[in-house]
Amino acid sequence: MAAHAQRNVAVLGATGSIGASTLDVVARHPERYRASVLAAGSSVDALLALCVLHRPDHAVVADESQFARLRDGLSDAGLATRAHAGAAALDALVSDPGCDIVVAAIVGAAGLSSTLAAARAGKRLLLANKESLVLAGELMTAAADAAGAEIIPIDSEHNAIFQCLRSRQAQGEVSRIVLTASGGPFRGWSRAALAEVTREQAVAHPKWSMGPKISVDSATLMNKGLELIEAHHLFGVERERLDVLVHPQSLVHSLVEFVDGSTLAQLGLPDMRTSLAVGLGWPDRIASGVPGLDLLRHPRLDFEAPDLDAFPCLRLAWHAMTAGGTAPAVLNAANEVAVSAFLQGRIGFLSIPALVEDALAALPATPADSLDALLEADAQARRLTERNLAGHLFP
Ligand code: NDP
Ligand code: MG
Repeated sequence: MAAHAQRNVAVLGATGSIGASTLDVVARHPERYRASVLAAGSSVDALLALCVLHRPDHAVVADESQFARLRDGLSDAGLATRAHAGAAALDALVSDPGCDIVVAAIVGAAGLSSTLAAARAGKRLLLANKESLVLAGELMTAAADAAGAEIIPIDSEHNAIFQCLRSRQAQGEVSRIVLTASGGPFRGWSRAALAEVTREQAVAHPKWSMGPKISVDSATLMNKGLELIEAHHLFGVERERLDVLVHPQSLVHSLVEFVDGSTLAQLGLPDMRTSLAVGLGWPDRIASGVPGLDLLRHPRLDFEAPDLDAFPCLRLAWHAMTAGGTAPAVLNAANEVAVSAFLQGRIGFLSIPALVEDALAALPATPADSLDALLEADAQARRLTERNLAGHLFP
């Protein structure tokens, strides 16, 4: 095997689920990769434990009030890792020539600034943070193209499509892209039953182990809605060529249909390390720790149409994608606030789509020609949804 220069990997959202999977794959290939930057939101203890294991050059905590604890913890552990705090420090580190690969795995719109910085700096960008694409997809892909950044989608569906296309180009020969969805923990449930759903039930995904926010998004099917918008930006395909199929076994990660009648699909066990290994190694294939798929042990592949009445979030996302402009930013922001309120036990499960629908109706789409316009729409939708929550209009 040819020798490879070791590449420095910045792991943003290192303390999360994707962060853990990334560090697992990186540690399998010490000759090819090292974690040079580890970043978290506020979990300093978890970040320090990762620094002891991976000995990065830099550790970053977004919450500036945690800086001293991080700095002192690193020095107490006898590490040479430098402590940083705040979003600007993170943006500078991902733009630094010392960083080769950026894994964007912060949850929510909080990941936009660093993801955009990595795109502008022309890095290889392993993009898990789907919310940044929903919020500012056109700016993100334009910035990446202008700077020669290579975006490799990490979301399993988009990673599957990327593998089928061997690129992000889905020109005229692609007739349809079909995203598969597990259907989440409540597949087949009625609206009446969904009204009683608890936080514990919602975060217990049947197939994937993920952070709490995306687990709730999977339960409402908003995750699939965000992924439609994500696919639209990543592969430049319009609504007419995008489809969703529920596939409860979560073994077929998505499908690409070509004009000649061929359909290519990517299959594998539901484990994000496969996508991350594709992102790190591409175009090479590297070991991920995920075993191959034994179809004799998984002989059934079922498919069904999504239920848009029981799961209106998917319909709302289709609507926002078609409306364009600021609508996806409003959808995403209202959803982040609603999911957070649901996770805190402040509202019921069905209030999530109700709050998102209210925000979309109250803040009609306007053209989104600048980052400022998008950030303003995001802020307005957050304020409106917080006001709705404070007014207890939603049970
Ligand atoms: P987790 O909740 O497990 O982890 C989130 C990470 O983001 C943590 O490291 C957290 O740090 C960090 N973080 C939170 N807020 C901030 C902030 N303001 N600034 C900096 N860092 C912050 O999420 P997941 O790993 O599940 O998901 C991460 C992203 O990847 C999401 O966008 C999700 O949609 C996407 N994704 C995830 C998949 C999965 O299988 N998990 C699959 C496909 C996509 P702290 O610990 O300090 O809070
Ligand atoms: Mg996905």
